[in-house]
Amino acid sequence: MKLFGTNGVRGIANDDMGPELAMRLGKAIGSWLEKGSKVALAKDPRTSGDMLSGAVIAGVLSTGVDVVDVGMVPTPAMQYYVKHRGMDAGIMITASHNPPQFNGIKVVAGDGTELPRSEEEKIERRYFDEGFRRVEWNEVGRLSSGESAELYVGGIISAVDADAIRKRDFTVVLDCANGASTSTSPFLLKKLGCRVISLNAQPDGLFPGHESEPSPENLRTLVEAVKATGADIGIAHDGDADRVVFVDEKGNYLYGDRSLAIMAKYMVESGEAKTVVTPVSSSTAVEDVVKEAGGDVVYTRVGAPIVARKMIELGAMFGGEENGGLIFGRHQFCRDGAMGAAMMLHVMAKSGRSLYELESEIPRYALYKTKVACPNELKEKVLERLSEMYEKKGKVDRTDGLKIYTKDGWVLIRPSGTEPIYRIFAEAKDMEIAESLAEKGRENIEKIVNGF
Ligand code: MG
Repeated sequence: MKLFGTNGVRGIANDDMGPELAMRLGKAIGSWLEKGSKVALAKDPRTSGDMLSGAVIAGVLSTGVDVVDVGMVPTPAMQYYVKHRGMDAGIMITASHNPPQFNGIKVVAGDGTELPRSEEEKIERRYFDEGFRRVEWNEVGRLSSGESAELYVGGIISAVDADAIRKRDFTVVLDCANGASTSTSPFLLKKLGCRVISLNAQPDGLFPGHESEPSPENLRTLVEAVKATGADIGIAHDGDADRVVFVDEKGNYLYGDRSLAIMAKYMVESGEAKTVVTPVSSSTAVEDVVKEAGGDVVYTRVGAPIVARKMIELGAMFGGEENGGLIFGRHQFCRDGAMGAAMMLHVMAKSGRSLYELESEIPRYALYKTKVACPNELKEKVLERLSEMYEKKGKVDRTDGLKIYTKDGWVLIRPSGTEPIYRIFAEAKDMEIAESLAEKGRENIEKIVNGF
């Protein structure tokens, strides 16, 4: 049985994500660790955060493991604390970008990076088999509190050229989405000498500003504010601030693969990174700029923890996803929204270019997305049949689902982990070609499904 999804355990608070589950998971996490271990715990400002963290803490303490509550901070701030304060693991209570009624629990290892699937399975086994350690009254763990926000902000400032950034006197509009970044990003940007105009910068689990996915629809006010104030850049985070997206000085919203490509280009050109790790779903624009700069790209399955673990394995110093998740190896091996924000200012300061100018240097591709129904039990067989069909015609990649390279672009066909569908992405130089690639893929899947 599976408990953890791609990014921890998620559900609706006090419905399928209640205090009973949280305490039981706390017991499983504590029992997975050795007696006497120390765990850092943080949460985002969701209304159910106190309830769930209270239950998780009780569960962990019952196994003879101590908990350090590091407060309402971004996920990467908790991860930084785990790594730099010698914790044995970390727990985050968050549902990232999901609507306010959701919440979730996510676990990180002692190195501050998300657990590999094999370790999650160990926790799951204890959760389902009730393989909990229950210690004597005099061995119950202790709860204390720790300071993580200043530690984290200080770490980021030391990882960028703060003086070069300060010299530029940037004006920044920052949208915290009433989320966890309210405790860190405004202070970070101030310390980097920016004039900060902040939106939705009070923590509020009802998300009165907008929902916490940093999509163009949710960031219309940010775009308007950048234009109205003549700011150099607009910056927005998702709810737990492990991601960051940008608006340029002309008010253009940058999709995540654009900022990923800008950053990948800089990291390779500056010699900070040689290999860039990214999932198969990322734009060819990333590969184009990395190769042009003399680096190479390693593709992985979709999922930030997978990218991070691959970077550790290869010793790669930069990686990221097309959704605004950027990972800087010399800072920490996890997505980090505030580090991404500071690094974008760093790139602007070092290059002397504006964000619009940096974006203009990135090749353009059109991405077309569609989906097609496929019963779950047929998914594997359909993929095999499809793979045989395309292998004869050209290059096929089986890293995640099926990625087919044609002379005009590529098509990625991935089974959804939660729904009886295949997701189809196609990228090409123009939208008509991308659409025809995707539609061709959809037709082929339909034919195979109907043939069974
Ligand atoms: Mg997130």
